[in-house]
Amino acid sequence: MGELDGKVALITGGARGQGAAEGALFAREGATVVLADVLDEAGEATAGAIERAEYAHLDVTSEADWDRVVADIVARHGRLDILVNNAGILLNGKLVNQSLEGWNRIVAINQTGVFLGIRAAGRAMIEAGNGGSIVNISSVAGLEGIFGTGAYSATKWAVRGMTKVAAKELGSHGIRVNSVHPGFIQTDMVAGAPAMTDPAKRAKAERNIPVGRLGEVDDIANMVLFLAGEGSSYCTGQEFVVDGGVHG
Ligand code: NAD
Repeated sequence: MGELDGKVALITGGARGQGAAEGALFAREGATVVLADVLDEAGEATAGAIERAEYAHLDVTSEADWDRVVADIVARHGRLDILVNNAGILLNGKLVNQSLEGWNRIVAINQTGVFLGIRAAGRAMIEAGNGGSIVNISSVAGLEGIFGTGAYSATKWAVRGMTKVAAKELGSHGIRVNSVHPGFIQTDMVAGAPAMTDPAKRAKAERNIPVGRLGEVDDIANMVLFLAGEGSSYCTGQEFVVDGGVHG
């Protein structure tokens, strides 16, 4: 018996990184998994290596993509139980140096993409009447002000706020909505960070993390599984920090 037997899950940004790890874990726990991304080649390869997973092209900024993919999942699988709004990009730089173009792009992906996902999946879940779980991937940058991450941080605070509103609006339909706040997780997103390229800086970063190591994708996947499954059935509208103990 798996934690997610019979469930159907859609994970955005699922071609690699945390989304891919969540897809593999969900499938091991019995779910049918749809990994959605704009990296089609990587997405097909990732889904191909996971039993009961498939890939869908979905640019989270596109209303049409959301409508098409969610309708297709419901038509072929009969239900949608879990949405993980995981797709995101990182943009570093001080606010006074931030271009409007970059700002609009990160808001479109990290913030508007989450709104469109909650809307599309929320409507399908309400219609099906089976309840559901929506997990929004924010960041520790959505809990505090981190120097040089203004645009990114603004989107991650927005995700945290939107989560709380959605939880109140969808609770009566049996749909729970929570946010996850990863610390430093070793993925392509942070491949150029000093802690990933310089052993001395990595050692320093690890000394500043109470559990003494940088984060792994499975650290996040395990929390997302908990929030997707019945073990968290009395939790909604909450933020779950997975950062080795730095924040707090
Ligand atoms: P990643 O770069 O490996 O994965 C992000 C995925 O999102 C990629 O596959 C990318 O193609 C996809 N994506 C980007 N734009 C998209 C779009 N318009 N439509 C669909 N997919 C799109 O990085 P990751 O670390 O796995 O990031 C996953 C989530 O975790 C992100 O929301 C990120 O902001 C968040 N996060 C990461 C860290 C970290 O240290 N890695 C820390 C806190 C939060």
